[in-house]
Amino acid sequence: MLTTTLGYPCIGQKRELKKSLESFWKGNISEAELLATFETLQVRDWKTQLEADIEGIGVGDATLYDRVLDWVIRFGLVPQRFRSLEGRDRYFAMARGKGKIAALEMTKWFDTNYHYLVPEITPDLTPTANFDDFLDTVRRAKSILGERTVPIVLGPVTLLRLSRLDGVEFDSILSQLLPLYQQLLTQLNELEIAEVQLHEPALVFSDAPELQTAFETAYGELSQVGIPLHLVTYFDDLGETYPWVVQLPVSAIALDFTRGRTLELVKTHGFPSDKRLGVGLVDARNVWRIRPEAATTLLRQLQTVTRNLCVQPSASLQFVPYDASHETQLPDPLRNVLSFAEQKLEEVAVLGQTLENRSLNSRLDRIEKDWVAFRLFDPAKPEVRQRIESLKVSDFERSQPYSDRVSQQVKLPAFPTTTIGSYPQTQAVRKLRARYKRGELTPSEYQQQIDLHIAYCIGVQDGMGMDVLVHGEFERSDMVEYFGQQLDGYAFTRHGWVQSYGSRYVRPPIIYSDILRPQAMTVREFQVAQSLTDKPVKGMLTGPVTMLNWSYPRTDISRKEQAFQLALAIREEVADLEAAGAKFVQVDEPALREGLPLKQERWNDYLSWAVDAFRLSVGVAKPETQVHTHMCYSEFGDIMEAIDRLDADVISIEDSRSNNETLMQLTDAGYPRQVGPGVYDVHAPAVPSEDTFKESIRKCSQHLPSDRIWVNPDCGLKTRGWPETVAATRNMVSAALELRRDIETASNGKSR
Ligand code: GLN
Ligand code: ZN
Repeated sequence: MLTTTLGYPCIGQKRELKKSLESFWKGNISEAELLATFETLQVRDWKTQLEADIEGIGVGDATLYDRVLDWVIRFGLVPQRFRSLEGRDRYFAMARGKGKIAALEMTKWFDTNYHYLVPEITPDLTPTANFDDFLDTVRRAKSILGERTVPIVLGPVTLLRLSRLDGVEFDSILSQLLPLYQQLLTQLNELEIAEVQLHEPALVFSDAPELQTAFETAYGELSQVGIPLHLVTYFDDLGETYPWVVQLPVSAIALDFTRGRTLELVKTHGFPSDKRLGVGLVDARNVWRIRPEAATTLLRQLQTVTRNLCVQPSASLQFVPYDASHETQLPDPLRNVLSFAEQKLEEVAVLGQTLENRSLNSRLDRIEKDWVAFRLFDPAKPEVRQRIESLKVSDFERSQPYSDRVSQQVKLPAFPTTTIGSYPQTQAVRKLRARYKRGELTPSEYQQQIDLHIAYCIGVQDGMGMDVLVHGEFERSDMVEYFGQQLDGYAFTRHGWVQSYGSRYVRPPIIYSDILRPQAMTVREFQVAQSLTDKPVKGMLTGPVTMLNWSYPRTDISRKEQAFQLALAIREEVADLEAAGAKFVQVDEPALREGLPLKQERWNDYLSWAVDAFRLSVGVAKPETQVHTHMCYSEFGDIMEAIDRLDADVISIEDSRSNNETLMQLTDAGYPRQVGPGVYDVHAPAVPSEDTFKESIRKCSQHLPSDRIWVNPDCGLKTRGWPETVAATRNMVSAALELRRDIETASNGKSR
């Protein structure tokens, strides 16, 4: 086998699966119709891989909602609260909740933007096996792909490593699962399958060395079935586990050559001659064409270690869209160097051929020429490079320390109130943007309409006595896209959807060139809002690290350099907002933490430039400008130093669900600045009462003095409706006002 795939997108080129799922949930189509669409899409995706001449085609990874959930169901790992439900009803209840039954928790799949459902394993659970749907899929695949069919199975150790084990020992549940995995492998063997992929990305986690015994036990047992096993790893190198992983009793091992120091490990430790080495060198996590020269050099180097090589994508291709050739709106030189799933299949196939005849294939020459053409089309922008090179330490610093600048900032009463930026993105707002995009409105007609929404939003906030107002972000469909579209160096696709979770797909923008900001991006809306109120309006920007982490980056310069380029653009915007009169500027970094590398040893490097990028973007702010930042997560424990080093005057965090844990983490660490702990959970439809708000504000003030506590929701309000937003924020503001009065009365009493 010279070429294989490790998984493929399953959402449909035209997002057919989303449409089907949503109709099914609404009751408009039957389960049979949903499954028919699902199967048609799978068949199409198999045929695409067959036509690309891939020799080992991964099958069975397509999912109606989530791949981990599929295995949870097959192994009967169904928590008590779902057991009264059956079949599809149970499946979607586990995915999305049903009435009072809460869904499984959802979290990010390694360092990707795909979210999986976290299995919950409790002592009352006994794993059982039902692989019918999977075996049916494999049979169907086999009727089309024949001996090229390679079933994809989530490996037992990774499944458990990603599970929440509650009162259950890892080893004991593993020993219960292994016979079931053996049963599965036996059944696959009976289908005369040539090889099975077992995906074990948990091997790249920092704590993988602790799993050595688990892996050795598991694979010792699984190998007894006698079907060839392909152990698949990705997203990073194997680090110190490499020497024992390559000795596991499997017939092939896939390694990710696009990340970490995999090549170095292979060269240092060699590779066993009885195994095939799966060379994951076509980057499944990015959208660029291979560099033929680098790819063939890598293969030649590996050939000196072993002749038993197989070319493959670095991971499942689910992380890239289907087909770059549909993006006809992009200039040819750019489109020609983009590589989505279909282009990557071709790259795998072509590189596979070079393993046989070694001569440089003409297709590779073509790709090389496309890169040359792209460089001519898009030369580096010397002025941007120049600015990065001449950055000084002082560019990364506010001109005064917090203790000096805070007294110069707008003086607000105790428990100041604000929101995180966005207000409800109603049907009307979305329709307005869509009409503008279709060219049905002139820019000035569009702006007039946007301004009406801003006026309404300001009126609502002013009316309830909010202290620091926002314009509402009605002109933004997405906090990265909005800025990307106004920056030079960003490209946007029309059909480039990838699954984020369930039926939610995203279309990440592509950074393809040096970043320049031709003109102000947010100043007009800020001015409109500020002209309507005497209260201060906060300028709202997306931070450089979030811009980078939610885009496909370029690969010819470092992520650090791209973050700095983005930071310079945002820095100019901060300065423009100040010049337009803003006394408050918020730079959101909700994606800063999720960018942490999988291996802890690389955290410091990442955090160091990520925090620098943020500091560069706000370092220009005058002492009297109050810089806010927002992060929608609450696990600060291990990155507290980085949070502190951001040096934001105010940080708002998601703390409404964590019972003030985060706030405590911050205060315990001696966090010296102001915090908005997020007293309103915007992800729940409930409207908390004034008393509930008072209670949580009081709790916060046990940890922090009242002049350092901001009162705000825990994230933007764009997904909420107006009535609940008004009701909830009104209760929030009145709670803060009342507690403020208490404080004022108390201190007046004292002074008298
Ligand atoms: N300012 C953004 C908003 O309110 C922040 C969104 C986010 O944190 N993801 O929508
Ligand atoms: Zn948020």
